[in-house]
Amino acid sequence: MYFCYSESGNQLKDEMSFHEIKRVVQDVANLGGRTITLTGGEPTIYPYFFELSEYINQLGMKTLCFTNGTCITPEIAKKMFELNVHPCVSLESANACVHDEMVGCIGAFEKTIGGIDNLITVGYTDKIPLTTNSVITSKNYAYLPELWDYVKSRNIDPFFLRLISSGRSREHDELYVSKEEIEQLAGKIVKLKNHDLAICLPSMSEEGCVKHFFSCHIDTQGYVQLCSGVNIHCGNIRQKSLSTIIQESPLISLMRNIDKNIQGECKECTYHEKCYGCRGVTYAQTGDLVAFDPLCWHKNVS
Ligand code: SF4
Ligand code: SF4
Repeated sequence: MYFCYSESGNQLKDEMSFHEIKRVVQDVANLGGRTITLTGGEPTIYPYFFELSEYINQLGMKTLCFTNGTCITPEIAKKMFELNVHPCVSLESANACVHDEMVGCIGAFEKTIGGIDNLITVGYTDKIPLTTNSVITSKNYAYLPELWDYVKSRNIDPFFLRLISSGRSREHDELYVSKEEIEQLAGKIVKLKNHDLAICLPSMSEEGCVKHFFSCHIDTQGYVQLCSGVNIHCGNIRQKSLSTIIQESPLISLMRNIDKNIQGECKECTYHEKCYGCRGVTYAQTGDLVAFDPLCWHKNVS
């Protein structure tokens, strides 16, 4: 996908081994972690995907998996269900042409919907929640209310993300939509049935993204980042344990206390106890982790 905030490409030489990944998972469990999120690339084609999900399960944690859904056969769906994997399927539009154009693959929509069908057949939406995620871009913007309706009609929770200027998307200015357009989109969504902006537009409602209080992101080479959208290294788990990195990193400390450190209009905003915008968007646009989220349209400042 050319709007992906990861700079994924060919396999790197020094990616973490399965053994190293298991060690990190154990560290997360020791720290009281409850969820491990697997993102890509495409996690379902990782050779140890099921072993890893099983290991996470054995340690009493939940696996959340961001997937394009195209490889989810009935057998894979069943196995995911048995291992309590919570999938979040990337779906950019309910219109096949728009989705295929965005992900750069003709026929991808059909395969993704096939994967969703297989997940629903084995019990997802009924016994384990199913979510989709979609990145708001100029290509799918006009189709997002329709996508929301389609996804909700299948008992799936949609969530929409703003495009972050990092990774591949950095070279595609034409994909960005303005904050006024995002505001209009939110206005359309609140008129739809069963809307829930906090779920649908995380980091864009007064109950924003709170991931920095309790999570961090680890890339394939072991570098610890604040989150997947803030590409700053805080340490490497090959050199220090995860708990040491979390304890020692000034950046992690800054973000764990973001409610005290937030600046600008976010600091003055009446929503700031529950919201601090998206730090990924803010950092990409301003270079300042604690500045006002420049794409926020609903600040409440007197
Ligand atoms: S702050 Fe990070 S985790 Fe939260 S929405 Fe933005 S990019 Fe995602
Ligand atoms: S100004 Fe900041 S705290 Fe207020 S709603 Fe916007 S992003 Fe959230």
